[in-house]
Amino acid sequence: MNKLRPRYPLASYAFMHKDQSIRKKSSTAGAFVALSENILSKGGVVFGCAFDTDWSVKHIYIENKDELAQLVGSKYLQSRIEGSFKDCRSFLKEGRYVLFSGTPCQIAGLKNYLGKDYDTLLCVDLICHGVPAP
Ligand SMILES: Cc1cc2nc3c(=O)[nH]c(=O)nc-3n(C[C@H](O)[C@H](O)[C@H](O)COP(=O)(O)OP(=O)(O)OC[C@H]3O[C@@H](n4cnc5c(N)ncnc54)[C@H](O)[C@@H]3O)c2cc1C
Repeated sequence: MNKLRPRYPLASYAFMHKDQSIRKKSSTAGAFVALSENILSKGGVVFGCAFDTDWSVKHIYIENKDELAQLVGSKYLQSRIEGSFKDCRSFLKEGRYVLFSGTPCQIAGLKNYLGKDYDTLLCVDLICHGVPAP
């Protein structure tokens, strides 16, 4: 069983993407896109949730800004993690920057899977009331 580790914010910031067209495509303020662009500009990898061909959703990773549109926007379905935790660890071991975005429970799962902190890992979770099963 995982023990709860109470934690408090070190700092709080509020920001939105400068580009209004990106804010319109995003669910709220496009913060995810702004953070992802920064990681991709450093040669990093971004993990997030995308629609599959049958409209189910799964986690994928991208390495180019052109692919970012697939990850933008909330999909109100449980996303399949598939091999993304394993892939994430491989990229981190190569020393690459990684942004991993998902629900708070997915981020907690990733951190437990990794078992240690990486300076090049940026985790982004979202305010989540829960996901319905597909
Ligand atoms: C399942 C779910 C529940 C939510 N519940 C609430 C709520 O209770 N209250 C509230 O105010 N807002 C809720 N939201 C909205 C959420 O807070 C917004 O998605 C977020 O604020 C968008 O920020 P953005 O504009 O920076 O990102 P966006 O560009 O909209 O990107 C959204 C990010 O969320 C990830 N994502 C999208 N769908 C899923 C999914 N199904 N599983 C895992 N990751 C996903 C994408 O990979 C992307 O990284 C929910 C969103 C989701 C996906």
